[in-house]
Amino acid sequence: MSETPTTVESVSEIIIGNLLHSMIQDIVARETVRQKQLHERYPTMKPYHYDPKGILDFNGLPKQQESSQYFLCPNCNREISANRFAAHLQRCLNRGSRR
Ligand SMILES: [Zn+2]
Repeated sequence: MSETPTTVESVSEIIIGNLLHSMIQDIVARETVRQKQLHERYPTMKPYHYDPKGILDFNGLPKQQESSQYFLCPNCNREISANRFAAHLQRCLNRGSRR
């Protein structure tokens, strides 16, 4: 017989393997129940779209460029591009507090 000797490492690997296995089984079981309940409640619900290239959003529509969206800064009432908004708000609010 070519049985590998039992070591602390081999026992640890079996234990972690069993733990991961039961955790994954638990997650899959819960998610399956959740999906069934959702489907019973909303039979016409479409599943979210998954685009591995990241071109389409979760509705399967082309993503809108962040730079094409503008938000009104509540501090200075200027229109700020969505991808600059967080940085702007931080500067804008700091500017106000220094005065
Ligand atoms: Zn501002």
